[in-house]
Amino acid sequence: MEDCLFCRIAAKKVPAAIVHETKETLAFRDIKPEAPVHVLVIPKEHVPSLLHWEPRHSALISVIHETIRAVARSEGIDENGFRVVVNSGRDAQQSVSHVHYHVLGGRALVWPPG
Ligand code: AMP
Repeated sequence: MEDCLFCRIAAKKVPAAIVHETKETLAFRDIKPEAPVHVLVIPKEHVPSLLHWEPRHSALISVIHETIRAVARSEGIDENGFRVVVNSGRDAQQSVSHVHYHVLGGRALVWPPG
């Protein structure tokens, strides 16, 4: 999708600090980090939100999880722990309509989130 920021990042038309890539997924640093490690994991396919995953995506969802694990290991946050957040819709303040998994770590995270 030409007008989707994360599609443009996935297509390498918009620069991003990429930390991990597979054929189907991309992980890059959030431009406004909320923790020492703040990486976004996305499918390269345009899926607007968590509500739009379909049964045909089950293998891709598995690759998303593998990508999250790879990022946690390469960023060195796997041992102490990390958080994965998916904002979905208005009340959760989803600001980019391309599903993305925030991977946050590198400090003690408070709970509950705001
Ligand atoms: P959300 O609010 O859950 O939709 O998350 C969108 C995230 O994308 C925010 O944390 C933004 O800081 C981040 N973001 C926006 N534009 C960019 C960009 N060009 N590169 C990296 N991260 C971005």
